[in-house]
Amino acid sequence: MKTLFDYASRECADGLFPECDVPSAAPSSVLGAEFVRSRAPRIPNLSEGDVARHYTALSKLNYGVDDGIYPLGSCTMKYNPKLNEDAARISGFASLHPRVDVSLAQGALGLLYELGKILKSVSGLPSVSLQPVAGAHGELLGMFLFKRYFEARGESGRKRILLPDSAHGTNPASAAIAGFSVTEIRSNERGTVDLDALRKELDSTVAGIMLTVPNTLGIFEENILEVTRLVHEAGGLCYFDGANLNSFIGRARPGDMGADVFHFNLHKTLSTPHGGGGPGAGAVAVSAPLVDFLPVPRVVKAGDEYRLDWDCPRSIGSIHGFYGNFLVAVRAYAYVLQLGEEGLRAVSENAVLNANYLMERLKTTYRLPYDRLCKHEFVLSGEGLPNHVSTLDVAKRLIDYGVHPPTVYFPLIVHEALMIEPTETEGREALDRFAEILETIAREAAEHPELLHDAPRNAPVRRLDQTQAARNPVLTYPFRAEG
Ligand SMILES: *Cc1c(COP(=O)(O)O)cnc(C)c1O
Repeated sequence: MKTLFDYASRECADGLFPECDVPSAAPSSVLGAEFVRSRAPRIPNLSEGDVARHYTALSKLNYGVDDGIYPLGSCTMKYNPKLNEDAARISGFASLHPRVDVSLAQGALGLLYELGKILKSVSGLPSVSLQPVAGAHGELLGMFLFKRYFEARGESGRKRILLPDSAHGTNPASAAIAGFSVTEIRSNERGTVDLDALRKELDSTVAGIMLTVPNTLGIFEENILEVTRLVHEAGGLCYFDGANLNSFIGRARPGDMGADVFHFNLHKTLSTPHGGGGPGAGAVAVSAPLVDFLPVPRVVKAGDEYRLDWDCPRSIGSIHGFYGNFLVAVRAYAYVLQLGEEGLRAVSENAVLNANYLMERLKTTYRLPYDRLCKHEFVLSGEGLPNHVSTLDVAKRLIDYGVHPPTVYFPLIVHEALMIEPTETEGREALDRFAEILETIAREAAEHPELLHDAPRNAPVRRLDQTQAARNPVLTYPFRAEG
């Protein structure tokens, strides 16, 4: 019998792997002469120890939810239980090939099926797709569903999407990419949809409305039933952006409020470490008239077996390879099982309690433009701080105190916005400490404004040119070409 050492040897490996099927022609004929090196690349020559120290030092510059509060409004940067990571690393899930025969993927399909059932019950809607891989991707799917629905009814003239000015920024982008034009609906002085402004826009060119629930001010539309009734009466559909479902999960269901499409951000509401662009899961639940149009394949159960159903003639097709970001679904499922129904209700209770606790404390120090009960987040304004101190200065000064700044300059309807979402997983001490730091910073703005204008002072870098950083990122090891 061969040992591992035998397999590691060249002759043995030659017999083990299939023949190489890449042409062995000279590189220049395959690549083009201009891409072939004439000299060896200049790669830094460092010892393993130096490299280990380099990356360890870099890792210590990072800040994440495991370091402290991360109050990034609208992003729900909450603590993610490590048990979810264990579940996502179970090799039967993590190593499963997406093309494996369904008979060998029954556990994974069962998980998707069961998670779908839970999401249906949470949303109060009859069908769900787990295929989208981000919230914005779910929105795009929702807009495609709107489009196909009206095409099927012979109402292709419905080309307009109504969008409150308090909507999340991805909403108008998704509507536009799907080929709709966007009409903005202004908010009233209470921070909710102005019903008169809505009535004026409703006609036979309207495909529907996209509502962010709660909106980006952290306020729930108190007239949501009236809004959805008016839109339905005018022949339109209602899209709910539910990325911040942590504010009402277990307490109210979008299906009962007139939603036709509702997207979850599994990577926010049901945990999963996120940031930096992924991975995400923007599951979409729909009302009865839209079920037929959902993407394929769909996970179905026949007797005791799970299958993938491709035979859905009215489906819009697939919007992503395979079944979306499967391991995010595993984390979400693990999270829901840990919490149970009571635990999910506690999520929304604590998210709302924490946000209101911080808002009440901070509104005596910073301006609060919409002073009313909030849901999971609230928006302060840096306007009126002394000595020309701006919201950006406050955000940068927070870094000196070792705290991640909140979302700033969004939503656009609040000048100098500071959008704070403490999340449900912060305790009282963390909230108090965050509030104390913001209060200290407000005192500094009056007494030592240079501390804010010059911030951050303790960070590895000072203020960067954000435009240059985004337009001309330097992503490689900085070697200068030798002349
Ligand atoms: C985060 C968020 C989105 C977008 O979700 P992504 O996964 O980042 O695409 C959409 N709407 C709201 C309200 C959000 O908070």
